[in-house]
Amino acid sequence: MKAPDTMPPHHARSRAWLLLLLVALLLGGMAWGLSHVYQEREQRYRHQIEGSLQAVNQLQLRAVTDWRARRMAEAAALTQDSLFARAVAQWRGAPSSPQQAALRERLTILMEQVRYTAAYLVDAQGRLLLDAQGAVTGQLPEPEQQALQLALAQARPVVVELRRDPAFAFAFYGLIAPLFDGTRALGAVWLLVDARATLYPLLETWPNHSPTAESVLVQRSGDEVVSLSPLPLRGSESGALRLPLVQGGRDPMAMAATGVRGAFYAHDYRGQEVLAVASAVADSPWLLLSKVDVGDAFTDAQRREWLGLSLFVSLGLLSLGLVVLLWQWRAWRRERALKRELERNLRWLDNAQKAATVGYFTYETRSEAFVMSRMASAIFGLPDEGRMSLRQWMTMLHPDESVQTLRIHGQAMMERTPLRTQYRILRHGDRQERWVEVWGEYSQASENEPLLMTGTVQDITERKHTEQQLARYRVALEAQVRLDPLTQVANRLALHEAVTQEWSRAQREGQPLALVMIDVDHFKAYNDSYGHVAGDQCLQQVATAMSALLGRAGDLLARYGGEEFAVLLPGADAPAAMAVALRLQDAVRQLALPHRGSACCDSVTLSMGVTSLQAAHYPGADAAQALFQQADAALYTAKQTGRNRVVLFGADCMQALHS
Ligand code: GH3
Ligand code: MG
Ligand code: MG
Repeated sequence: MKAPDTMPPHHARSRAWLLLLLVALLLGGMAWGLSHVYQEREQRYRHQIEGSLQAVNQLQLRAVTDWRARRMAEAAALTQDSLFARAVAQWRGAPSSPQQAALRERLTILMEQVRYTAAYLVDAQGRLLLDAQGAVTGQLPEPEQQALQLALAQARPVVVELRRDPAFAFAFYGLIAPLFDGTRALGAVWLLVDARATLYPLLETWPNHSPTAESVLVQRSGDEVVSLSPLPLRGSESGALRLPLVQGGRDPMAMAATGVRGAFYAHDYRGQEVLAVASAVADSPWLLLSKVDVGDAFTDAQRREWLGLSLFVSLGLLSLGLVVLLWQWRAWRRERALKRELERNLRWLDNAQKAATVGYFTYETRSEAFVMSRMASAIFGLPDEGRMSLRQWMTMLHPDESVQTLRIHGQAMMERTPLRTQYRILRHGDRQERWVEVWGEYSQASENEPLLMTGTVQDITERKHTEQQLARYRVALEAQVRLDPLTQVANRLALHEAVTQEWSRAQREGQPLALVMIDVDHFKAYNDSYGHVAGDQCLQQVATAMSALLGRAGDLLARYGGEEFAVLLPGADAPAAMAVALRLQDAVRQLALPHRGSACCDSVTLSMGVTSLQAAHYPGADAAQALFQQADAALYTAKQTGRNRVVLFGADCMQALHS
């Protein structure tokens, strides 16, 4: 028998959908949250990176500004050094070796201690006079010449911005420090700084080692922007980088030159997207540009971010997995418990079925088939857990009851009433005839579902046999109760019942009813003569002889008690009853049973009292008593008048009746 599903399938399906929706919602929510967190953190990192690049730019800007200020301060110190100016004036008035040496020493100090690349003493016309090594000849280059004029005019040092000159192998920064003797212009000191020595290193200090970070000093020059310091990322290419200032150009150098300040994003000369910070160097045409490749700057941050996120996600997934695992485990445990319970129940059911020889089944009207439990299958003589078609079942029905059984089943189905029936089947396998009792109920889940009958079937063959035996026994017992065990004729109880019944019938039908009371003569003496066993045999023979004589239906011979018998004769009037009585007397006489103790005869004789009443003349239920009384009185009279005779109740018997 199939166990029914614990849950209808559409319920299970909607639950699965709900679960799927929940999971989708959860995943969606997680993705949204993650992207949100990611965006927020990216923004923060962007700000952080921009901030740190700006900090680097500021540091370098500060260093460059300081560097320029120090150079200017050194030049100013020279201009204000009146001792040095006087020494120059004296040397110019009367050149001598010791004085030249003193001047050279001052120039040497400048070079060695302040790391100037060269220092020249020039006259007011720009002619080179002296350097740290000794006297020199030559003329100031053009830019320095102009600066000299300006410096002398303003009486303060003038900067010659970083430039390249064919005379020098390096880019240099120049200063013209004018010298005065009082108000007379003596000339100037031309200080040269190799930018590689002290300036460029300032741009190379980065707090972190980003391979794509570089800072560069740039300067606008007409419609172009020119790099003043090396670009490490440019590789082997030497010389200044010159880029046109195109409107809306995306190069950070050009953007800086057109006035963009602070942090911004651009595409540099390599075509790389960079984060750049531009700032102007105070009191100079220089711009300091610091930049780093966006890819590079963010890769690290992104990697860190992804690591954090993936850690977060994997933690989430892990806990989700744990929850699912826990859930699964609980479901598995629940299922296992249910399974055990089901198994135990099935076992119980099986045992109960076995013990009660009850099987159960389902009958599906649509497929016209029974699905049977093991016990039900066994009852119908089918293999284990069998199916049985309607046709198969019908052919099993006992021919005597098949029509009735089908009718009862059909009626229960039509009226949806409980089915309670017993019928016989002839099993196909062993051809055995079995009695079965079937209890069933029809049910239908819904309009579209097929009509089902579930029920039990019990093999009641043994019970039926017992019942039949019992019935037979009861019939026999009933007869026994009304039978005299010695003579095998009816006893007094049976006689009384028959009299009551026949009396009513006689009353109804207006028929006479006769009773003959019979007593064996001198029977005490018989016993005394032949013994009790012989007495019993005698009584049996007398009874047999008399009952052989009574042939008519309704006539009843009964042993009334001891050696007394009675014969009930329905429909017999007095003469008919007398005739029967005489024949009875004759029959016993013919037995010729010797009786030496008898005072009246040599053989066993009978005395009889006969009466016949018209029952209709005696209203009342216990009027039948009159029958006994009259017959008894007649018998008494027969005894009194010599025995071995038949007396019909009459007036002569009245005395006996009243005595
Ligand atoms: P009477 O002619 O006046 O009828 O004399 P009787 O001896 O037949 O009558 P009584 O009533 O004095 O005695 C009846 C006897 O019948 C007494 C008893 O021993 C005997 N008797 C009664 N029932 C049985 C029985 O079942 N078997 C045997 N063997 N004797 C019985
Ligand atoms: Mg007697
Ligand atoms: Mg007697």
